[in-house]
Amino acid sequence: MNDQQLLRYARHILLDELGIEGQERFLSARVLVVGAGGLGSPAALYLTTAGVGDITLADDDIVELSNLQRQILHVESSVGRPKAESGRDMLAAFNPETHVTARVERLDGVKLDEAVAAADLVLDCTDNFKTRHAINRACVHHRKPLVSGAAIRFDGQVSVYDLRHDDAPCYHCLFPEADDVEAVNCATTGVFAPLVGIIGAMQAAEALKLLAGIGESLSGRLLWLDVRTMQWRSVNVRRDPECEVCKDREHHAVAA
Ligand SMILES: [Zn+2]
Repeated sequence: MNDQQLLRYARHILLDELGIEGQERFLSARVLVVGAGGLGSPAALYLTTAGVGDITLADDDIVELSNLQRQILHVESSVGRPKAESGRDMLAAFNPETHVTARVERLDGVKLDEAVAAADLVLDCTDNFKTRHAINRACVHHRKPLVSGAAIRFDGQVSVYDLRHDDAPCYHCLFPEADDVEAVNCATTGVFAPLVGIIGAMQAAEALKLLAGIGESLSGRLLWLDVRTMQWRSVNVRRDPECEVCKDREHHAVAA
């Protein structure tokens, strides 16, 4: 680290659990953030200011005026631009040392698989079940830690699926795929602005802890938040041995 970096990240380096070693792990980390909306905005912002070296920000959406109420990576002059590019430019203003790749596309199939394989860790900041399950499958396949967040109305949830470990559940163990699940997203139901900030910031915190290898992650626990009462509920979750997505996980090699 050079003098500028020592200064920029001084408040991390002062933390005993992190120190220079932890900060250097952030600097060399590659993180995939899928979704540059309500959750992806605060998550990517904190990853960037914290000094994560390489971020891929994927989103096929365009910034709309109705996004600005909560998607804090985008400003009024960004309306009409692709969210991934608007996000990349804003992140560069916060920390030009973080290399951000904007992918203006819906990552699926081979593209998603390759993007997950190239990352150390994945943040699911999307708002639909189909994409969530596709991201989970790719993370199971490549045994990458997945930090998942969701927010709707006044309800939020966050968890970690640390698929490097044989006993950790995957997203599908908790939320089996069902074709009849009605698409519920913020476009049609509304969401309280600071809720996505709370959940997105928690995703960033879990991601940074995993990258630095400190503390205890949310793997095996699901946190629910009701902002109306500001009550958190913690639910212990287990791997489903019959889960059709991850039951053969042991056959996938853990990446170095
Ligand atoms: Zn599973």
